[in-house]
Amino acid sequence: MGEVHARIQLPIYLVARGARFLKGRLLVTLLRDGLAPELAEAALVTIGDLFDLALELMAESYVRDTQRVVRSEEAFRLHALTQNLQVERERQRFLLASWGQEVLFTLHREQSPQVLPALRNAEFGLWFLHKGSNLFDGAPEVELVHAALQRIDEVLLPRLARANRQDPAHAALLVDLQSELDNLQYLVQMLFERHVELESGRDALTRLLNRRFLPAILSREIQLAQRQRLAFALLLLDLDHFKAVNDRHGHDAGDAVLQQAAGTLLNQVRSSDFVFRYGGEEFLVVLVDVTPEQALQQADKIRQRIATHRYVLPNGAELSLTASLGVAPYSGHPDYQYLINQADAALYRAKREGRNRVCLAAGAT
Ligand code: GH3
Ligand code: MG
Ligand code: MG
Repeated sequence: MGEVHARIQLPIYLVARGARFLKGRLLVTLLRDGLAPELAEAALVTIGDLFDLALELMAESYVRDTQRVVRSEEAFRLHALTQNLQVERERQRFLLASWGQEVLFTLHREQSPQVLPALRNAEFGLWFLHKGSNLFDGAPEVELVHAALQRIDEVLLPRLARANRQDPAHAALLVDLQSELDNLQYLVQMLFERHVELESGRDALTRLLNRRFLPAILSREIQLAQRQRLAFALLLLDLDHFKAVNDRHGHDAGDAVLQQAAGTLLNQVRSSDFVFRYGGEEFLVVLVDVTPEQALQQADKIRQRIATHRYVLPNGAELSLTASLGVAPYSGHPDYQYLINQADAALYRAKREGRNRVCLAAGAT
């Protein structure tokens, strides 16, 4: 609930006021019921405790969510400070490789070195701690880089320093170290690529919007709908049995199909609508200024187009494909996540009822 409050920017004093009101009503009800004094006392204590606990938890997640926003703004500012990302990337990859050479050199020079230079204290490690992890905040690779740094500094280096150079274990440790370094190079590459993609707000494969601006766009649409009584609807589309395309024709063929499906989708909506790549083979469309009936019609038109299109594979072969869709018209709820969940539940129903169909969210008219 705290996260929801943060998303809809409900001031925390209003939550406290609501809690006070509820608590008051509960107490009145309790006292009116004429409970035995010990029971009434125990009930009062329990109610007090539960309310305090609930408020505490809500406040905690409220603050956490608000901090997340602050952190992403921070990442933005850092981005502005980092002048040229391409140059930065090459520099960090070079620094990482240099550190590897330094370790090898130290090992070569000293028969049994007592200490090897820690990666976290090297220039790459310092850059990652102070800048990189902030710049790429939220990307899954950040945690993986931290874990790799820890493993190198706390496990591999001490073992290497202790191992005898004639010992076969020594060679195995060097191989381990090299593969951790390769892994880090790959992660750094991924982080920079992801960042470029995020910055532009577009998905690299389909050129559709990525999820970055989804919260901002949906919040804005909800505000517009509330203020100007404009209707809009969410449409969630998932390609049917897409895994089979990859399995039968390869990942490149899958990518080509995704690009063509995205193109088909874009051709079917107006320029005022928003089309997102929501997940691997899932797309989310914000249809603006539509009634629920119009949204349903539009969804079915899209379903037909997807199903009749012939998808051309890189080797020239062709295939057909279907999609399932869930439609959720805006119904007045202030939290956009609620609307997404509704579309998701409708999509799930469309899948369960046999795929290649459109389902309307429960409760929508
Ligand atoms: P369902 O009808 O239940 O949706 O079946 P499905 O096979 O489409 O669903 P599932 O979620 O099991 O599989 C989705 C597949 O989409 C798995 C993943 O390999 C593939 N996929 C996700 N992103 C990409 C991508 O960018 N490129 C390619 N080629 N495949 C992708
Ligand atoms: Mg899916
Ligand atoms: Mg699917």
